[in-house]
Amino acid sequence: MNDPVENAPPHAVARLRAACLQHSETLPRLDRGAPRKARCAVCRLIPSHCMCALRASVPTRSGVCLLMAEFEPLKPSNTGWLVADVVPRTHAFAWSRTHVDPALLELLDDPRWQPVVVFPGEFAAPDRVVTELAADARPPLFILLDGTWAEARKAFRKSPYLDRFPVLALSPGTLSRYTLRRAWHGHHLCTAEIAALCLAGAGDERAAQALEATLDVFNDRTLRAKQSVRPDAQDAAHRRLAALRCPEAAPAGRALPRRGRQP
Ligand SMILES: [Zn+2]
Repeated sequence: MNDPVENAPPHAVARLRAACLQHSETLPRLDRGAPRKARCAVCRLIPSHCMCALRASVPTRSGVCLLMAEFEPLKPSNTGWLVADVVPRTHAFAWSRTHVDPALLELLDDPRWQPVVVFPGEFAAPDRVVTELAADARPPLFILLDGTWAEARKAFRKSPYLDRFPVLALSPGTLSRYTLRRAWHGHHLCTAEIAALCLAGAGDERAAQALEATLDVFNDRTLRAKQSVRPDAQDAAHRRLAALRCPEAAPAGRALPRRGRQP
């Protein structure tokens, strides 16, 4: 394909996925219940429902650091992937109890960032819990534990290198629109929704809205693909995403295709 979006360099989660495929000898079946279908390598949807042409990459002041459970980058329903689609300053690392990527420690030590662990406050020592970012000239680096709730709790408990950072506890009042798989913690929000809340709280409002709109379109297209129903590029979620796209911010050589909408 000559689609320039297809040719964009892979983002942090896509690179982690490639590494996972390369190094894992036994891979689980992650799309249970559905026949294996060819998927777009960039957006992970089947070709008839590909949303690459709709991708909104929005520059932010904040950064996101995803610590991903084993196999999480391979799951077609993983929403950390969508965070990396929208937020160029996304970093992604595989979480393991026994091994820590030196590049992760380097990132956490980088004095240019203000790292905060995003996690429900009831699981942290009270003196670590904050409900808003500290007044700090440095941009926040939101550390998100991406996996099932059990995996996220384990990562939170067994990552001593995170213990020195404050825990940002979110109290969202909105119900999740995420309906594809179990939410990763008790508040029923998926990783992309949590990232959107963090970005909005840090003043990266446009990226937050683009991420939510991306999630809505991704969910809609995933469900329609399962039901063999064509995507509707004119529905409210698609129109919202189209309005939030920021083509002027796309790096040179990554101009979006002229035919901007999928069928
Ligand atoms: Zn695609």
